Amino acid sequence: MAYQSPINDLRFLMDHVVGFDAVAATDRYAEATPDMVDAILTEAAKMCDAVLAPLQRNGDLHPAVLENGVVRTSPGFADGYRAIAEGGWIGMSADPENGGMGLPMTLTTAVNDMMSGACLSLQLNPLMCQGQIEALEHHANDAIKALYLPKLISGEWCGTMNLTEPQAGSDVGALRSKAEPNGDGSYAISGQKIYISWGDNDFTENVCHLVLARLPDGVPGTKGISLFMVPKFIPDGDGNPGERNSLRVVSLEHKLGLHGSPTAVMEYDGATGWLVGPEHGGMAAMFTMMNNARLGVGVQGIGVAEGAYQHALAYAQDRKQGRAGGTGAIIEHADVRRMLATMKADTYAARAIAMACAVAIDLSDDPAWQARAAFLTPIAKAFGTDTGIAVAESGVQVHGGMGFIEETGAAQYARDVRVTAIYEGTNGIQAMDLVARKMMDGGDAASALLDEIEAGSEAAKATHPALAEAVWQAAETLRETTEWLTAQDDLNDRFAGAVPYLRAFARVLGGHYHLAAAMTGDTARARLATFYIERLLPEHIGLLAHVRQGAGTLLAITPDDLVA
Ligand SMILES: Cc1cc2nc3c(=O)[nH]c(=O)nc-3n(C[C@H](O)[C@H](O)[C@H](O)COP(=O)(O)OP(=O)(O)OC[C@H]3O[C@@H](n4cnc5c(N)ncnc54)[C@H](O)[C@@H]3O)c2cc1C
Repeated sequence: MAYQSPINDLRFLMDHVVGFDAVAATDRYAEATPDMVDAILTEAAKMCDAVLAPLQRNGDLHPAVLENGVVRTSPGFADGYRAIAEGGWIGMSADPENGGMGLPMTLTTAVNDMMSGACLSLQLNPLMCQGQIEALEHHANDAIKALYLPKLISGEWCGTMNLTEPQAGSDVGALRSKAEPNGDGSYAISGQKIYISWGDNDFTENVCHLVLARLPDGVPGTKGISLFMVPKFIPDGDGNPGERNSLRVVSLEHKLGLHGSPTAVMEYDGATGWLVGPEHGGMAAMFTMMNNARLGVGVQGIGVAEGAYQHALAYAQDRKQGRAGGTGAIIEHADVRRMLATMKADTYAARAIAMACAVAIDLSDDPAWQARAAFLTPIAKAFGTDTGIAVAESGVQVHGGMGFIEETGAAQYARDVRVTAIYEGTNGIQAMDLVARKMMDGGDAASALLDEIEAGSEAAKATHPALAEAVWQAAETLRETTEWLTAQDDLNDRFAGAVPYLRAFARVLGGHYHLAAAMTGDTARARLATFYIERLLPEHIGLLAHVRQGAGTLLAITPDDLVA
């Protein structure tokens, strides 16, 4: 079945659930009228469905390859990238002064969702560019902004992020790449970076690498790291690609999935780079890109969940097996219905969380919204990608044996999406961020969200008493555990339950957003909300019981016990 962008769900969330009207009411985003939003979503959907979705299998069957030092991309990817660039979808939220559209992050998030569902491995390229654009807008000097931003926004050039090294994965502070001042304002960058997504391509004039490296006086750890712009071709006096820089793609990784995206080992050998942000302030600058990418990667998971769901649904409507009743297709069987309903309900919950996070980003001139965006980002990343993985996995199961056979495409979704829980900070690292850094406010941001969930339940009590009571009660249990968590001084007591805590928070948020859907009077959405609140939401009870055990009995299991 051909992929169809989920415009209706995205529009429904914006209109009825995540409060996009507050974004459209700001002076900054006054142009985001309902007509404009419709036009944007419709145009983006056309491109995703007609141009990007047909490339999905190409990326898998004909992976990007390295030939004589040159990366050759999958068939059709150059045209797909051109369609994305020409549509203006890379710079949707970028500053209009540099050629961007200046649109809300909520709309960019919606379009990224559709592009990810259509062709994940290609979409990773513009996602990296969007993060780089935001990092440069916030941290680069005027000369770098003037030179690079218009080209990145137009898509003539594209951007990458270079953090990881063999000994520095989650522990970025362990990196060894070096930067030496050249004495003319530029720096010589040397070192090896691994796993660099879209480290090169054969369809943009230039590739701009944002590279983390340490200056000679940089202290060990994250505080001694600086950020540099290191282009593949050094721009000449007119800003056109000039001399070849001393960097190269050493090899491309052979991966479980996401074959259309070239994942490169990069070698920098005294390559010329320019500082972005202050000396030793690289992590703060890179965090702008990483936060952008964290929401973006969560949305990748949701996009893939959508694609996998549509695939499985079509198969279940067609495949006849057993005494199914009704149409005779397997969709009539209770267990298949359970799988499909879970896939749909969780995709909706994850999408609502990501869109709510984007709305908070759009309103984050206000510190309270900024705190909400910071709190929701790790939840959107981890729950979005966990949902992508679980839904794609169920998609294989719905297909039965055909799910294990590559021709159906069901397995590709499961292989491609697996990395989203790993890159851009593993989901374990996201959860630790949630219970430590994002709770340094003593739990205020969490508490404000819980207040909103409980107020939503109160408002729903008259029309949906049972559902409202279940969501209210879940929020109270989550509040008690949140208070317990913030009272733990030993961080291990928080970290031991970080992953179940994040998932429980997402579950409860999902209940809140499903309840909001039921409140609109849409009967199909109300039935899905009932399914979610009665059958999926109770998972939070077990998860929170796990959290409240702290670290004691977990760390009592010694490494020796594990090998015994
Ligand atoms: C396909 C692909 C594309 C990628 N693209 C890019 C890119 O474009 N740019 C880039 O810079 N990087 C990229 N990466 C790298 C990616 O971000 C890292 O793989 C990821 O951050 C994890 O690092 P690691 O692989 O070294 O795992 P490790 O850090 O070794 O982690 C192994 C396990 O230990 C856990 N762990 C590690 N530290 C802790 C801790 N302190 N507490 C608790 N648990 C911990 C992790 O959660 C994980 O489960 C990419 C990776 C892949 C596979």
